[in-house]
Amino acid sequence: MRHEHSPEGLPHYDLYIDGDWQPASNGQTFTVFDPANGQPLATCASATHADVDRAIAAARAAFDQGPWPHTSPARRAEILHAIADALEARNFELAEIESRDAGVPLRKTTYNDITLGLEILRGCAEMARKHPYEPLPWTDLPSVSWNFVWREPIGVCAQIIPWNYAFCMAAWKLGPALATGNTVVFKPSSLAPLSTIAIFQTIHELNLLPKGVINLVLGPGGEVGEYLAAHPAVDKVAFTGSTEVGRKIMALAAPQIKRVTLELGGKNAMLVLPDADLDLVIDGVLWGAFYHSGQLCEAGSRLLLPRSLHDTVVERLVERVRGMKIGDPMDLETDLGPLISERQREKVERYIAIGREEGATVAIGGGRPLGEAFANGHYVEPTIFTGVRPEMRIAREEIFGPVLAVLAYDEIGEAIRIANDSIYGLAASVWSRDLQQALAVAQRIRAGTVWINEHHVLNPRAPFGGYRQSGFGREMGQYGLDEYTEVKHIHVDLMQRRQGRLWWDTLLPE
Ligand code: NDP
Repeated sequence: MRHEHSPEGLPHYDLYIDGDWQPASNGQTFTVFDPANGQPLATCASATHADVDRAIAAARAAFDQGPWPHTSPARRAEILHAIADALEARNFELAEIESRDAGVPLRKTTYNDITLGLEILRGCAEMARKHPYEPLPWTDLPSVSWNFVWREPIGVCAQIIPWNYAFCMAAWKLGPALATGNTVVFKPSSLAPLSTIAIFQTIHELNLLPKGVINLVLGPGGEVGEYLAAHPAVDKVAFTGSTEVGRKIMALAAPQIKRVTLELGGKNAMLVLPDADLDLVIDGVLWGAFYHSGQLCEAGSRLLLPRSLHDTVVERLVERVRGMKIGDPMDLETDLGPLISERQREKVERYIAIGREEGATVAIGGGRPLGEAFANGHYVEPTIFTGVRPEMRIAREEIFGPVLAVLAYDEIGEAIRIANDSIYGLAASVWSRDLQQALAVAQRIRAGTVWINEHHVLNPRAPFGGYRQSGFGREMGQYGLDEYTEVKHIHVDLMQRRQGRLWWDTLLPE
C-alpha cells in the first residue's frame, strides 16, 4: 500500500486501482476525524471522475479479459480463506482501527465485528466450492432434452457502504462478489474508510488476486458514489445506507437496467409479550436499542410493551441506563461511544426535540453527557421516550442514534399492527416464554429478520435484508451469494432430429 504521511504528519492513504496505490488525478485529499475527540486521524485521496473511470476500466478489463470469472470455485475459495487468515493475523489491530475511526466501542469490534467479518468471508469461500451447476428435473416437453442451470458472475460490481459497520459490511460485500467471480469497485464512507483500506492493504500484500479484480475509490458519496452508481460500465450496484440515497441509486441504475441490491433503513420493533422473561427483556432491550449507540440499521428503536408491564419495565430500563458507561470507545469498559459526526448528533438531537414537542416524555437522557472527556466528541446520552404514540415522528422515522421510543399496547393484535405500521421492514424481535406464541407473532411481522428472545444477532449463513423501503435483495448465506450471479439455462437437445421443427411437431409419432 502507498502509506505515506500528509504534510501535517498524519497517515495518508491513496486510491487502489488496477493493483496499485495511486493519488487522485487532481491531487485532492480529505481528512478523516476521530468521532470521540474531533482530532484528525488520517488523510485520503479524494477520487475524481477520471479516477473512478480508471477504476471501472480496470475492473471491466479484469472481468472481460482476465482469468478471474473463469477461475475455479475451489481456487477462489482458497484465496478467500487466505484473505481471512491474513486479516485474522491483524485481528486486534483491525478492531482498534475500526473503533477509532467509527467510534465503535472496542468491546464490540474485538468480540463481534472482526470475528463476524472473518466468518462471513470463510462462509463465502465454502459456499463457492459448490459447483455453480444445478440440474433441472427431467421432462420431455417441449422436446427431449437435457437441461441445467449455470450460475455465472454478473460482471463489474459497484459496492457502496456506510460508516456504521464498515469492516463487517466490507466482508459481506466483497466475500460473495469474489466467491462468484465478479470484479469490484468499492466505495466506503468518507466518514470511516480506514478498516476498508486495511482490508485492501492486506489483500494487496497477499498478491493472490489478479490486477483489477478489486479497486477502491474514496471520497464523498454525492460525488464519487453517485458517479460510480450511474456509470454505464457497471453491471451491478450493491448499496447499504439511507433509504433516501437508496432511492437515488435505483434511479441512477435504471438507464442500464443494472442489477441492484439495497440494504436501507429500519424502524425495528421489539415486541414484548405479557409472559416474557423480564430479566431477558431488560438485557435484550438495552442491547437492541443502544448497541453502537443505536447506529445500526437493525437496531431496536421501538419497544412495544403490554400496558400491564409498562411501568415495571421502564423503571428497570431507566435504572440500568443510569449505570451505563458512556465514553472513550478505546476503553474496554465503555458501553456507548460517540456518534459518527456532528451532523449525525444534530440529527439525533433534532429528533429528541421533536419527540418532546410531540408530547412524549423523556424518561432518561435527552442531552449531552457533561465533562471534559466529552467536550470534543459527538456524544449523546442514551435516551428513552415514554408516552409515545404510533403516529409520532419518533415512532416512525429512522433516528440512527441512542433513542428508544416506548409504546404501550392492550392486546397482541394491536401490537402486531403497530409493529407493521411502518414504511420499513428490516427486522424485529419478539420476547416471550411461549415459543409457539412467539413463532405465531413472528409469522405475522413483515420484516426480513425476526429474532425470538434476541436482537441484532447476524448469522453468516442466514439471509439479511429488508421488506418494503428497507430495501431488497439479501446479503449473507447462499441467498447473498446468489445476488451476485446471473442464471443461465443450458438446453442440450437429445432428439437430434431437425425435420418438422418449424411446425412444432417433434413429439408426433414418426
Ligand atoms: P448515506 O446513505 O448518505 O451514505 C451511505 C453511503 O453512501 C456512504 O458511502 C456515502 O458516502 C454514500 N453516498 C452518499 N450519497 C450518495 C449518493 N448520492 N450516491 C451514491 N452514494 C452516496 O448515509 P449517511 O452516512 O449520510 O447517513 C444519513 C442517515 O442515513 C443516517 O442518519 C441514518 O438514518 C441513515 N443510515 C442508515 C444506514 C443503514 O445501514 N440503514 C447506514 C448509514 C446511514 P459518504 O459517506 O462518503 O458521503
